[in-house]
Amino acid sequence: MALDEKGYWKPDSPSTYSPVFQGPLRPKAILKWFFGWGGLIWPRHVSYALLAVGTWFFLQADLTATKTLSAGWIGTMLLRNLVLIWIVFGFYHLTLYIMKVQGKRGKYDPKWQEKGKKKFLFKSQVLDNIFWTCVSGAPIWTAYEVFYVWAAANGKVPLVTWSANPIWFVAWFFIIPFWRETHFYFIHRLLHWKPLLRAIHSNHHKNPNPGPWSGMSMHPLEHIGYFSCLLIHFVVPSHPIHFFYDAQLTALTPAQGHSGFEGPLFGNKWPVGDYFHYLHHRYVSCNFGGATIPWDKWLGRFYDGVGPYRTKNR
Ligand SMILES: [Zn+2]
Ligand SMILES: [Zn+2]
Repeated sequence: MALDEKGYWKPDSPSTYSPVFQGPLRPKAILKWFFGWGGLIWPRHVSYALLAVGTWFFLQADLTATKTLSAGWIGTMLLRNLVLIWIVFGFYHLTLYIMKVQGKRGKYDPKWQEKGKKKFLFKSQVLDNIFWTCVSGAPIWTAYEVFYVWAAANGKVPLVTWSANPIWFVAWFFIIPFWRETHFYFIHRLLHWKPLLRAIHSNHHKNPNPGPWSGMSMHPLEHIGYFSCLLIHFVVPSHPIHFFYDAQLTALTPAQGHSGFEGPLFGNKWPVGDYFHYLHHRYVSCNFGGATIPWDKWLGRFYDGVGPYRTKNR
């Protein structure tokens, strides 16, 4: 790991995609990417699957109660989501930006978060980002969840259970990450259409040097589009656990994706870090998707972070 001449972190080797989509076929690398530590499944998606299970069994009114809309259970869901936001986003911000547990080691941009700039509400990047996350992100996330559990309770969505179809029940957990990344890619490309970029998506791009709270700091219309990946559960048979898994991944993983640091973090133990998306914040017109499915590579907008900035179709 090294720094460039301006003090920005730079990788030892170019960013790459998952071996699933990189020829030639390397079964060992693919298995490692799926099941190895820091790969697709473990620990991130396993943790979120467990969170979804816990949410469904312990933190969610059952479907008999959600048949009719009422302030009680809706308010509880909003509160639950705000608490989850503060735990996850707050954890990364507290450790990396307040306690500074690893100083600037692995920090992509040598600067800390900005203060005193008019473009931010309250003239503070952190407070601005917290505002959009909690005042717009949390209610819109919750609204999708409310709509879903109400519809599920009223028989308006296709449900699947473990006993009815165990293969699909498990497979759907593996497919959802790929679905999310694809949905994100296309909605994000759309938001970069000049008029939408100017009116809506510029709010997220106020953060060329993102911190954890920048992850869900978006214009309300972007939140509506971003969370619309959840509408698939109104069409594809799902269990509410699948829905919460998808919703919580969408709402909470941007914290680590925008941490601003290369992982593994915390004494080389926690395998997070998203240089791929950091490059999007820094350069704006590259890397619209994620680092799993090479949508950007296929569509000519991939930058691997090495050498002079340019998108490459290769
Ligand atoms: Zn971002
Ligand atoms: Zn963007």
